[in-house]
Amino acid sequence: MNHQHYPFQLEPLPFAYDALEPYIDQTTLHFHHDKHMNTYIDNLNKALNPYPQLHNQSLEELLCHLEAIPEEIRTAVKNNGGGVYNHQLYFASMHHSKTTENFPAGEIANKISEYFDSYKDFQSEWKKAALQLFGSGYVWLVYDKGALEIVCTPNQDIPPILCKKPLLLLDVWEHAYYLDYQNRRSAYIDAFFSVINWSKVDQHLQIYTKS
Ligand code: MN
Repeated sequence: MNHQHYPFQLEPLPFAYDALEPYIDQTTLHFHHDKHMNTYIDNLNKALNPYPQLHNQSLEELLCHLEAIPEEIRTAVKNNGGGVYNHQLYFASMHHSKTTENFPAGEIANKISEYFDSYKDFQSEWKKAALQLFGSGYVWLVYDKGALEIVCTPNQDIPPILCKKPLLLLDVWEHAYYLDYQNRRSAYIDAFFSVINWSKVDQHLQIYTKS
């Protein structure tokens, strides 16, 4: 979806730093975006710098063909490239909701009813997955061969995105919530439901169903 290539650059957040308050505060977003995400970008560029043959590849091309990456930088590209890809999608998954009720609408709402029975059931499955994920990682909503599925990955790993197409992503690394919620991951997951950008999720779904 994103055709950026080396040298990768930190794109601005798609909303103001204080746009997600009171659910996620601006201090967390400054650290998360300006420091954590920026470090992944710097380290990805450092790893790729001596390999000009990789400089025209997009992030998806790099991550989907890790076997083609020289072995000495493969782990660095997987971890740091994953860190860039995952944060782009995580930040794109959120927005400032103008209403207190933040529900999916359009085709994504139909698909959620079809595969999880109701939005409430989706929320409880999503929350269960996010709470059960041990250590650091992500919870994904993916579109796979016409169906919706919740998938968890550890560290900065990505699901095999060539066959499973990502719609929505929740970062459950502690740096995503510790300043706001300390050890209360459950409260952070609840807060995330209030800031999900469902129209963006619906746009992703439409791209995949048309392709
Ligand atoms: Mn993060």
